Amino acid sequence: MSALLNVQGLRSGYGAVEVLRGVDLQVMPGETVALLGSNGAGKTTLNLTLSGLVATRGGRVQFDGQDITGQHYRKVVASGLIHVPEGRKVFPNLSVAENLELGAFTRGGERRAQNLEKVYTTFPRLKERIAQLAGTLSGGEQQMLAIGRGLMAEPRLLILDEPSLGLSPLLVEEMFGLIAQLRRSGLAVLLVEQNVGQTLDIADRAYVLENGHIRFSGTPAELLASDTLRKAYLGL
Ligand code: ATP
Repeated sequence: MSALLNVQGLRSGYGAVEVLRGVDLQVMPGETVALLGSNGAGKTTLNLTLSGLVATRGGRVQFDGQDITGQHYRKVVASGLIHVPEGRKVFPNLSVAENLELGAFTRGGERRAQNLEKVYTTFPRLKERIAQLAGTLSGGEQQMLAIGRGLMAEPRLLILDEPSLGLSPLLVEEMFGLIAQLRRSGLAVLLVEQNVGQTLDIADRAYVLENGHIRFSGTPAELLASDTLRKAYLGL
């Protein structure tokens, strides 16, 4: 089986600062892949570079058989690589329904009504708040809205950047339950998380990014079997 996402030697950064120094990473169809690493390792930069929001300085990105290296973010979205950014970036002055509809702006427009129903089935709490302004939702609800908006674009690969950040323990549980549900539905997910234990519970494979390089790649069991990595990244 060929990889859905194949990243080879990817380099990027900001001005004189080099952040990604040659990253190799693959996601197979239907796989949930965890991307771990300490603060400042470059996880968000990797996601932004894959999405076309930070310029690529070297290397290659293939997605779904196409070379998407350095493409404009709208083209990346059109190809089905959908990034739900860190920090619940919803449009605060638009309603829940309007935010979701915008998710289908570049991709998924033909089946917008059906997909909207699907999102409301996945997140009944959003359905109860269709007309509410997104800025007045709770943090957890905004996170659900951001993911729901991503789902409206019919992702082939969904990149979730720290979806459990700032949520209460109960909502964190709910969020991981939801990600497990997306995995069961066959969606490929690249999951950046600080909740390492819960992430490794649901991931098929994991990468550890350190200082702009992939330090480890393997199964969660292999990662947990390494004393050095466990201590350095998992605090276990
Ligand atoms: P965290 O887990 O803390 O979110 P991360 O692994 O996602 O960290 P990045 O946000 O990708 O890390 O940041 C990697 C490095 O790039 C950091 O040293 C950061 O200060 C730097 N950086 C990020 N954004 C910019 C920017 N716009 N301009 C300059 N440097 C930046």
